[in-house]
Amino acid sequence: MKQIAIYGKGGIGKSSTASNVAAACADEGYKVTIVGCDPKSDSSITLLRGERIPTVMELMQQGFEISEEDVVFEGYKGVKCVEVGGPEPGIGCAGRGIIVAIKMLQKKSSVMADSDLIIYDVPGDIVCGGFAAPIRKGLVNDTYVLTSGEYMPLYAANNICKGFSRLGNHLNGVICNSRNAENEEAIVKAFAQELGSELLAFIPKDPIVQTCERAGYSVIEKQPDSEIAGVYRKLARSIMDGISSCKPQPLTDARLRELTG
Ligand code: SF4
Repeated sequence: MKQIAIYGKGGIGKSSTASNVAAACADEGYKVTIVGCDPKSDSSITLLRGERIPTVMELMQQGFEISEEDVVFEGYKGVKCVEVGGPEPGIGCAGRGIIVAIKMLQKKSSVMADSDLIIYDVPGDIVCGGFAAPIRKGLVNDTYVLTSGEYMPLYAANNICKGFSRLGNHLNGVICNSRNAENEEAIVKAFAQELGSELLAFIPKDPIVQTCERAGYSVIEKQPDSEIAGVYRKLARSIMDGISSCKPQPLTDARLRELTG
C-alpha cells in the first residue's frame, strides 16, 4: 500500500491536486482513501459532489461514539473520503489531532488497510513537530511538496524540506501549481533540482479547475477530456510509479531569493 502526503503553503492548491490525483487513480482501478487534514474539509468536497462531511475531530469533541459510517464517505468511483478536521483556534494541536483521529479510524474501520493508496492532504506552511507527526508515526512513506514559482510558496516548500531533512525523511518530488508567475516552470524546476529532487508536474493555471470545484466536482470527473485532466492523470501515474526519492538539500534563503529574482 502506498501512503503519501502532499505538503505546501496554505492556499497553494494542495486540496485540488490531492482530490484530482485521487480521482485519477480511482479511474485506473486503484482503491483510494483521501484523508483531509484541513479544518475546511476541502480535500473531499469535490469527490462528493459538493457535500461537506463531518470531521473526525468535530465528532470526537462532541463526545460521540464514532463508527465507520459517521466519518468514512464514499465519493467518485469509490474513493473513501475522511476529513480529520483541525483544532479550535488557540487550543489543541493539528498534528496530534491527525494522529489521534487516524488511530481511532484504524481501530473502527478497515478502510485504511484495504486501500492501495492513501493520500494525506496536510495543512501548514511549515513542518513543525506536529505536522510532521504522520511521517514520524510511519503513516506516510512518500512525500511531495507543492509550490508555485513565487517566493513565499517556495520559501514554505524549502522550509518543509528542512523539516524532512531533519527527520531523515526523503522527498519524492516537487509539484508546481502554476500561478502564472514569470519563468515559473524554470524556477520550480531549478528549485527541485537544487534540492536533489525533480519537478514531477507543472499544473497550468486553468479556470476549468475553479469552475469544476465551484460545481462540486474534480476536473477528472467533470472535464475528463480537458488538457488539465491529462496533467493530473500523468501526475497520478508518476505518484503510483514513485520511482525516485532523495534526501532533500534545502536551499539557503539567499539562493531562494536569487532564483525568484
Ligand atoms: S506542534 Fe504544530 S500542529 Fe501542533 S499546535 Fe504546534 S504548530 Fe500546531
